[in-house]
Amino acid sequence: MITADPVSRSVRDVPAEGAAARERAPQPAAPVFYLPVGKECDILRHALTSQLPLMVKGPTGCGKTRFIQHMAQALGRPLVTVSCNEDTSATDLLGRHLLVGGETRWTDGPVTRAVREGAILYLDEIAEARADALVVIHSLSDHRRELFLDRTGETIHAPPEFMLIVSYNPGYQRSMRELKPSTRQRFIALNFDYPTEAQEITIVSKESGVPVVTAKQLVQIARKIRHLTELSLLESASTRLVVAAGKLINAGVPPRLACLTAIAEPLTDDGEARAAIRQVIDLTI
Ligand code: ADP
Repeated sequence: MITADPVSRSVRDVPAEGAAARERAPQPAAPVFYLPVGKECDILRHALTSQLPLMVKGPTGCGKTRFIQHMAQALGRPLVTVSCNEDTSATDLLGRHLLVGGETRWTDGPVTRAVREGAILYLDEIAEARADALVVIHSLSDHRRELFLDRTGETIHAPPEFMLIVSYNPGYQRSMRELKPSTRQRFIALNFDYPTEAQEITIVSKESGVPVVTAKQLVQIARKIRHLTELSLLESASTRLVVAAGKLINAGVPPRLACLTAIAEPLTDDGEARAAIRQVIDLTI
């Protein structure tokens, strides 16, 4: 499935000054909480002004998407997000001719729209996309910064404020698709990993609403599971899972049940692995 989901408003959408404009003004979106874990905010700002495409690498659920959403909002830029999968084709990204009222009309895809708007374009899990989709971004991610629509013959030049960001999960794709050097080397890259213990406690407490003392226990569980390498989990306990456990606890679910449901079950179907995780949970919370 492919989704285009603008989460922040375009600067052009900001209403003009004046009482009438103020009446019509939409409620400002709530600030997107993101706790920086390093210099990533500075790097993204510099990449934007230097017109460099950016790759964010790291395991699932460690804050990559949240980081992009936060920065788009902080910079006041529209954000177009495309979740790539093995069916994502060049046509899905660029657009297609559609039959509208008996007429064939060209309809921009999310990438074309983002380039025309000068948005931040975030291609999530880029390595999952089909080869023809990856080729589309080549001319966008080098000095040309342009998009060629072969179906219409149009070449669109990206405005200076356009930025391309892709995410890539190296661990997950090890057994699946690797990103070719010819694609990777077009980007500067930020490596995301699980936050430090103190950072993760802050994130979990703030995101789920549990007190810091509970967040600390939840983070300890996640950190112990991450060290259980013998479980051969495809991916380990992410911050996302820890936040989910916190939310269940905050909603009134008993802590051990919350951890089993939000952490153990999503991680594995293997009986032995589940038992080991359950033991960690019982000993910690
Ligand atoms: P992914 O790396 O898969 O894109 P997300 O950005 O969706 O992961 O992060 C998953 C969840 O983890 C977020 O919804 C948020 O609750 C939490 N999270 C992880 N890291 C951070 C962070 N640095 N600041 C705030 N929330 C974070």
